[in-house]
Amino acid sequence: MITPLVRHILYPLHERLQGRHTFAYLRELERTQWLEGDRLREHQWDKLRELIAHAARSVPFYRRVFDEVGLNPQYFTLEDFRRIPVMEKETFKENEPEILAEAYPGKLVRLRTGSSTGSPLWFYSSTHTQAFQNAAKLRCRRWWGIEPGDMMFEFWASPIELSKQALVHNAKDRHLMNHYLLSAHNMTEAVMAEYIALMNRKKPRVIVGYPSALHLLAQYLEAGGTRLRFTPKGVVATAEMLLPAQREAIQRAFGAPVINEYGARDGGLLAYECPEGSMHVVAENVFLEVDPDTSPDGDPARGDVLVTNLESFAYPFIRYRVGDQVTLSDKSCSCGRGLPRLERIEGRRTDWLVDSAGRKIHGLVVAHTIAKVQGIRQFQIVQKTPTELHIRIVKNNLYKDSDDAWIIQSLAKYFTGPVHIRLLPVDRIEASQSGKHRFIINEAAC
Ligand SMILES: [Zn+2]
Repeated sequence: MITPLVRHILYPLHERLQGRHTFAYLRELERTQWLEGDRLREHQWDKLRELIAHAARSVPFYRRVFDEVGLNPQYFTLEDFRRIPVMEKETFKENEPEILAEAYPGKLVRLRTGSSTGSPLWFYSSTHTQAFQNAAKLRCRRWWGIEPGDMMFEFWASPIELSKQALVHNAKDRHLMNHYLLSAHNMTEAVMAEYIALMNRKKPRVIVGYPSALHLLAQYLEAGGTRLRFTPKGVVATAEMLLPAQREAIQRAFGAPVINEYGARDGGLLAYECPEGSMHVVAENVFLEVDPDTSPDGDPARGDVLVTNLESFAYPFIRYRVGDQVTLSDKSCSCGRGLPRLERIEGRRTDWLVDSAGRKIHGLVVAHTIAKVQGIRQFQIVQKTPTELHIRIVKNNLYKDSDDAWIIQSLAKYFTGPVHIRLLPVDRIEASQSGKHRFIINEAAC
């Protein structure tokens, strides 16, 4: 039995033996989060300059790109920086060997994204990048009183992490870190009953998972299948968009705050919710911009998010389009942290629906409406054509006959012109290849 105190000593020691510096980074991040806005921006800019100078020195691909746009890596303004072309997934696929830093001294890790559409992206990271990102995550979880080594149950469906190799590789960390990884695939009632029994025995301090998986558990708990006999410090929702209706249900069922974590496997940890409800950009880890050409309404703060990972020295991600749309905010937060905020995270551009007039409707608005129906366990909206929408639904026993008409009427209101909405009851909805649940599949946009 490892007590929290022993773990407090063991974990940093273990990290040090592995050559990682997570706890040194954590101490640094505990300090920088309180810097005032201007000071923090300066700190961020220093890191950006260091990354650009390194990329010009050691990364053939960027050396060429900087030359082409006439960027002086020793001295540049934000305007100069914005001349660097946006990096697409394809750019990385086509130039992989040239993006890897020459003679990088640290240990490399090869990773891939679990793409929900198209082929995955293979890329490199380093133990340094990973350690910094872990430190950033630990820092943000501490906002909620969640300490390193607190027992964690994580519901995960990604075939990447659940591969045998990864499990063996991480087994030691998991034991020391008190980290239980459970599959979020195939969450039948019998499986959920087992998970909850295990949780009741172990009493984890924190629960992490896809909102869709956590929501299934919440619905199961609320339906009275069984009861939780502990209260976690928080429930972290990650890797998918968190709908307000899901948040409410999860919060009720677990009796704990739901914490929104926003990251991308390739871009890194991007933003984290604080107890005041703001999504704070993890500004020491990433520099975020919005691609102004992609704003849906002309607002320059809204559009595709471009990520520069400030700690990606082995394989630099600079002005990388991760595929999500966000709205940046210039408001400060009452929690007092200088970290900038995201007003909104809007998900993928493919999460939009279209109507016959060619108008775009944000899929999450529609998803939010359907999520209000108590009798729906899971759903997925498939846009076949601009005038045909299929809604696949998994019902529970609260589903009423009148719900059919309510859904159709409520959704039709978002569309200009005719739209044919078909409800298709199904037994289950499979997660995508990446393990994530997709609310919206727009076949008309492909
Ligand atoms: Zn805050």
